[in-house]
Amino acid sequence: MSPALVPNPMTDLSTQLIHHGYTPPAGFAAPQPGVFKASTVIFPNVAAMRSTEWKDKSGYTYGLHGTPTSFMLEERLCTLEGGLQCLLVPSGLAAIANVALALLKTGDEVLIPDNAYGPNKTLAEGELKGWGITHRFYDPMDPSDLSAKISSRTRLVWLEAAGSVTLEFPDLLELTRVCRRHGVISALDNTWGAGLAFQPFDLEPGAGTGLGVDVSVHALTKYPSGGGDVLMGSVITRDVGLHMRLKLCHMRLGLGVAANDVEAVLRALPSLELRYQAHDRCARALAQWCTQRPEFAQVLHPALPASPGHAHWQALCGAASGGAAGLLSVIVHERYRPSQVDAFCDALRYFKLGYSWGGPMSLVVPYELASMRLAWPSHLARGTLVRFSVGLEAVADLQADLQQALTRLA
Ligand SMILES: *Cc1c(COP(=O)(O)O)cnc(C)c1O
Repeated sequence: MSPALVPNPMTDLSTQLIHHGYTPPAGFAAPQPGVFKASTVIFPNVAAMRSTEWKDKSGYTYGLHGTPTSFMLEERLCTLEGGLQCLLVPSGLAAIANVALALLKTGDEVLIPDNAYGPNKTLAEGELKGWGITHRFYDPMDPSDLSAKISSRTRLVWLEAAGSVTLEFPDLLELTRVCRRHGVISALDNTWGAGLAFQPFDLEPGAGTGLGVDVSVHALTKYPSGGGDVLMGSVITRDVGLHMRLKLCHMRLGLGVAANDVEAVLRALPSLELRYQAHDRCARALAQWCTQRPEFAQVLHPALPASPGHAHWQALCGAASGGAAGLLSVIVHERYRPSQVDAFCDALRYFKLGYSWGGPMSLVVPYELASMRLAWPSHLARGTLVRFSVGLEAVADLQADLQQALTRLA
């Protein structure tokens, strides 16, 4: 097992991730960790078989319960997000499901922001509803709406910053305070922030309040993998009791991850911050350019002063890294028919049509927002929404691509 984390004074995250504690095998001092693959783990005798404990990670018992390789990634992700315990699951959506299944039972209610990652909502509308667990969607831009919707049956509140697809930035600190006041567990989908834009377990850095979310889930599929070639998720906590509830459910559901996938994420983590900054710079430049285009009624990107929730983004992320990820959305003016917007998307050459984000290649998806929300949000212009995830290509090339494809709208 690897030794404790490299302590301060190395506060820089990239430095910490690159110099994370690792003891190589004797006589082989390569800095890159080995990849251990196993279902079976051999015990020296029956007594050891009976007494080896996997729950506290003091021993190895079975591949599903962890290997030196998976433990290493768990520790590094705790460093990244400022957590103390981590579970690895086969996808970001599996992380969401792990939290819901561990913490909710028949008769309970879960509250989900109306701009949540879509499959989080459909899990509630499907399996959870079938098991007698109710859900309600709240307005993430209005903490009083969350407060009003929490009832004696509410057991879990989902948070997301920025919101999926529409990228509004909520007052995460206030939403977390509301959950605290009502004694309800808060779980953040931290895929956008990636542990870099802000600290999910310390939303008031420097204030010493330690106020943060209870659970952070992360689709490692996106920025931590960075290659568009791995599906994985994590569930991070700072409370051992809460972690054990999640872990026992994780074990009973058999949510294992493959060693080669863990290796791919371990390999990509040292460049996470650099890649995030590059995506961020490029997305900001394109967002700025988009604001000048008459075809777009609105540009959604938290760092743009006119984007919904910009002040909340500024307050939370401005004090930390100032990061804003690599996503931007535009609302194409309603004078253009959806079929014209489809033609615009089809005409893009570098932005490929495809889901997900966080890899080197830029992607684009047109969305039918009306079918995704309780009602059309008042802070959004009418029109057709297109979401871009900016890869690692040159800004000038991506901008030229948008420009040539816009001629299809005319
Ligand atoms: C992609 C994504 C997920 C799900 O991740 P998968 O690994 O694709 O299942 C969850 N939340 C957000 C915000 C995402 O963008």
